[in-house]
Amino acid sequence: MSEVINYDSECLFCNIIKGDIPSTKVYEDELCYAFRDIAPQAPVHVLVVPKKHIPSLDAVAPEDGALVTHILAVIPGIAAAEGLQNGYRVVSNIGPDGGQTVPHLHFHIIGGTSLAGRMA
Ligand code: AMP
Repeated sequence: MSEVINYDSECLFCNIIKGDIPSTKVYEDELCYAFRDIAPQAPVHVLVVPKKHIPSLDAVAPEDGALVTHILAVIPGIAAAEGLQNGYRVVSNIGPDGGQTVPHLHFHIIGGTSLAGRMA
C-alpha cells in the first residue's frame, strides 16, 4: 500500500495508488505510480500519476514543479520498458473541454503503433 499525499477518498486514482482499487502496476517510486489504462486506446496505454493528489496540470503549483519534472523524467524509462523504441505520445487532458474524466493529474503514455497525426 502506498501513501497518498492530499488523499481524496472520492478520487479513483488516489484509491488505486493506495491499493484499495486494483490496477496493473508497471512502475512505482516514492513520488509516482504507473499502471495500465483499463480501456487502452493503443497497444500500449499506461497512466502515470503523482502520489500527491493534484486535480490536473491546471492545478499544479510552483512547489509541485519538481514533482512534475520527476514524472516527465521517469516516462522515457517506462516507455522503453514497454518497448516503445519507435516513439510514443504523452497526453495530459485538462478539464471537461480537454476530455479529462478523472480529476487526478495523470499522463497517458500511448504507443505501440503509428498514431494519428491529428490530436483533435
Ligand atoms: P482522462 O480521460 O484523461 O481523465 O483519462 C482517464 C483514464 O483513466 C481513461 O483513459 C480511462 O480509461 C482510465 N481509467 C478509468 N478507470 C480506470 C481504472 N480503474 N483503471 C485503470 N484506468 C482507468
